[in-house]
Amino acid sequence: MQKNEVMAGWFTEQMADQGTAFSLRLGKGRHLHGEKTPYQTIDIYDTETFGILMVIDGCTMVSTRENFLYHEMMTHPALNSHAAPRDVAIIGGGDCGTLTQVLKHPEVRHATQIDIDERVTRLAEQYFPELTEVERDPRATLLFDDGIKWVKDAAQESLDLIIIDSTDPVGPAEGLFGRKFYKDCIRALRPGGLLVQQSESPLLHLDLIAEMAGYMHEAGFAATRLLHFPQPIYPSGWWSSLHARKGGTQWVERLDAAAVKALGTRYYSAEMHRAAFVMPPFVAARLGTR
Ligand code: SAM
Repeated sequence: MQKNEVMAGWFTEQMADQGTAFSLRLGKGRHLHGEKTPYQTIDIYDTETFGILMVIDGCTMVSTRENFLYHEMMTHPALNSHAAPRDVAIIGGGDCGTLTQVLKHPEVRHATQIDIDERVTRLAEQYFPELTEVERDPRATLLFDDGIKWVKDAAQESLDLIIIDSTDPVGPAEGLFGRKFYKDCIRALRPGGLLVQQSESPLLHLDLIAEMAGYMHEAGFAATRLLHFPQPIYPSGWWSSLHARKGGTQWVERLDAAAVKALGTRYYSAEMHRAAFVMPPFVAARLGTR
């Protein structure tokens, strides 16, 4: 739980354990909405330069201005690292930003989004309609359930890709970062399937990332690799996702120029795809090559 405050016209999220903070100057609307759901506290702010900001349990989640960075990089590298991603599950992602990007891929036959808190989606419909219009896509299914339970009950080898777009590993999301959950994921994935999980900051959370990769290997994934990208409103401004592959001997790379161009992305490209998997020496040293 981060401490945050609205002081002198600014929203500030203090990362007390890191001795850092992130602030956005508020616009005229200031604090637009706040509520406590059965799972978390959700606040919505109007900011002067980043548009609308959603905050969950004091942590910045998504803003109008920058969410494309996160949502493009949580999806396209994963989908283009699979030969034929037909059936996709998104755990979390209640703002529908990840779902929006996943369904830009015509090869995806069905995408199921499972968020524990329906209020995130309902508030996103009000404040981020550009993200939630994807709900009308006939390939999309929105469920409101605990992703831990949903994956446990998922049919064996029924999915090609699982994307974990959750809050930090505390509270309802804690169980999404562990060996038991990864075992349920690998059972639900088809051979060649991928698990992709938002894995926090390579600068601040490298030990957590190493632990997650270790648990994924213990669960039976053949290989893992880290992808990194800028994420201005999250702690350190530098974020990552951990990719785990079920079986296979090498990573797939599907970067047909016309297909990538057709995605109409603003940050993702074939070059960024390749660059985002290149590890800085200090990260490679800590994670090793697996
Ligand atoms: N990081 C994303 C971004 O920047 O756009 C937003 C993440 S999304 C808002 C995080 C979601 O994870 C929340 O909506 C929360 O309800 C959901 N969540 C947390 N624990 C969960 C669980 N066990 N099962 C399903 N969803 C969960």
